[in-house]
Amino acid sequence: MAAGGASLTIAAMNTLTSSSSGTPAAHALPRIAVLATGGTIAGSAADVTNTSGYQAGVVGVDRLLEAVPALSGVAQIQPEQIASIDSKDMALALWTTLAQRVNALLASDEIDGVVITHGTDTLEETAYLLHLTVKGTKPVVLTASMRPSSALSADGPLNLLNAVTVAASAAAHGQGVLVAFNNRIHSARDVVKTSTYAVDAFQSLEIGALGWVQDGRVEFQRKVVRPHTVDTEFVIGAKWPNVEIVTSYAGASRIAVDALVAAGVRGIVVAGTGNGSIHASVQQALADAVTQGVVVVRSSRVGSGHVMRNGAAPDDALGFVTAGSLNPYKARVLLMLALAAGGTGAVALQAIFDKY
Ligand code: ASP
Repeated sequence: MAAGGASLTIAAMNTLTSSSSGTPAAHALPRIAVLATGGTIAGSAADVTNTSGYQAGVVGVDRLLEAVPALSGVAQIQPEQIASIDSKDMALALWTTLAQRVNALLASDEIDGVVITHGTDTLEETAYLLHLTVKGTKPVVLTASMRPSSALSADGPLNLLNAVTVAASAAAHGQGVLVAFNNRIHSARDVVKTSTYAVDAFQSLEIGALGWVQDGRVEFQRKVVRPHTVDTEFVIGAKWPNVEIVTSYAGASRIAVDALVAAGVRGIVVAGTGNGSIHASVQQALADAVTQGVVVVRSSRVGSGHVMRNGAAPDDALGFVTAGSLNPYKARVLLMLALAAGGTGAVALQAIFDKY
């Protein structure tokens, strides 16, 4: 569905008090764009007790907003249906569309912040991509839900209200891309999905959430240290270098790595065991891949912690890069952006991973 096509149902419910110059009057509510992409938050099932066998992404943005009348007291909403997908099917071309639309909205004098409704499955990847590529200090907040909109105790409406509340908050400016979920506010860099079913499905492991949102109150308790948004060298483009992920496990072979190299990938992220250790067969295949010009980034499948350079593998000798505390999926996002920006060589790419 084309961006900008949705009606302004909630905006019409609000008191539109913008001055003719496009800047809001002092007493006006913040103007928040809500970009819907699908997901379980827009999911529906025939039965209110069904929270797993539903269709994701079938409820339009207008209906999502109508389910939360309290939004009219928080912000003037500008809704847009960007896509209607299950986020397991997120595509690189849609990432380009979404990031470009967010950048256009952030540059507009008519918008004070952006909320994105998304599926939970790849939310952490989209959030990190935007964290590195959107250019602005206005709040950008992703949210989602674990239960479809048709479910008993659906968590989407409150998550949406809280996300808009965060996006409307002055405290959220300059914090990078945020994820508001189950009352917590997370940084896009740190947040990961940690449950297949629980409504408390997102955590910033090791480090903890940035803050919380409850009953209209937003509080941040720490700041993001690593550069993001306006402080990165990354810009969103339409060309995505081919970077894939392989996993190491008991009895792993070199088949997958060799097939990827033969297919012409530019980079491989390996989800290693423990501290990014790699089965000897896979490690030899990856070392061979480096000699073919493929960038290899060593990360961990464990889910928390970081991968130490020259710890579980001789990175200097083999020409590997280490992902630090990025999980394999976020490491892939950063590697794609780094390669698209012209990054080459293990030393320069390691500096990028150490920085971001
Ligand atoms: N499969 C859904 C999605 O990612 C799951 C969810 O949103 O919770 O779109």
